[in-house]
Amino acid sequence: MASATSPLLVLLAAMAVAALVVAPVSSAAALPSGFADIASKIPNPWSAFKNLTGCHFGEEQQGLAKLKDYLSHFGYLPESPGFNDMFDADLEEAIKVYQRNFGLNITGAMDAPTVAQMMAPRCGVADVINGTSSMGTGAASQAHGRNLYSYFPGAPRWPRSKRSLRYAIAQTAATPIDRATLSRVFARAFARWAAATTLNFTEAASAEDADITIGFHAGDHGDGEAFDGPLGTLAHAFSPTDGRFHLDAAESWVATGDVSRASSAVAVDLESVAVHEIGHLLGLGHSSEPGAIMFPTITSRTRKVDLASDDVVGIQSLYGGNPNFKGVAPPATSSRDMDSGAGALSRPWSALVAVVAVAAGLAVAL
Ligand SMILES: [Zn+2]
Ligand SMILES: [Zn+2]
Repeated sequence: MASATSPLLVLLAAMAVAALVVAPVSSAAALPSGFADIASKIPNPWSAFKNLTGCHFGEEQQGLAKLKDYLSHFGYLPESPGFNDMFDADLEEAIKVYQRNFGLNITGAMDAPTVAQMMAPRCGVADVINGTSSMGTGAASQAHGRNLYSYFPGAPRWPRSKRSLRYAIAQTAATPIDRATLSRVFARAFARWAAATTLNFTEAASAEDADITIGFHAGDHGDGEAFDGPLGTLAHAFSPTDGRFHLDAAESWVATGDVSRASSAVAVDLESVAVHEIGHLLGLGHSSEPGAIMFPTITSRTRKVDLASDDVVGIQSLYGGNPNFKGVAPPATSSRDMDSGAGALSRPWSALVAVVAVAAGLAVAL
């Protein structure tokens, strides 16, 4: 577990039930009622969780030990050498924290929406790190008022002397995507963060010259955070100033074209995941805001690359704002999506967008 092996260690990947916030109108309209069905038909490392639907405190059921492993991996339970299949009070409490983080009804039970959310592909970075840095519910987020972004413990960031960061696309043997395409995708992903901040990024020729190294890896790749094949965890990255960003080579990455039209049901948009992981490389943890890039999950065949207000406020608090930044664009289908999203955490979009715009002196531009 990242939290145990290194305090600065972070992992990642990105996908979201609530990615429907920025999904095309067609899929957004269909997802709220149909998502559980869709998710259960796509095999992934966590498919067996659907057998736990309806399970609650006091029951003993095969598969609960695996659920505890999952919750432990993402910071909701302490590590244990061997979990049992009892639905005990610790598990109930862990599920409640998970449900709060993801904007679900806080039942403490494995109700259908909770099962569907847990099966969604996601970032390998923990949501709760050392018990202190939890999405939207920790002390840090309370200090941020309405914003739901988080930092890693101690809020590590790149030093002031390092506002120009160099990245290398270092390990590509495990992916069929050609090098030129990778360069374009990662350049676009970094540019989204550069646009909002005083940071800038350039691709280096080799890892030796780089602050950030990007690589595709399969299975166990030496950092204690083995990848798990298609879906499940998609990628992970480490907090500043480590600089490592790893992608699961087993994913059906889509680097060009419209991912929503991909033939594979398990296609994952590379740029979307890259934008999320770069957030970790720069110091952001996970956010409870479903529309934020830093929300931990993303649905397959979904593109989600635009920073939300929550992401922008979080990153500008670490590095300052770019005076040329024009603010975030409201989602194209905002009013409709607001009605269809994940409940209590539905986004205060217009308010936040206005705050950012005013802060940037750009209210007129909206
Ligand atoms: Zn993440
Ligand atoms: Zn790794």
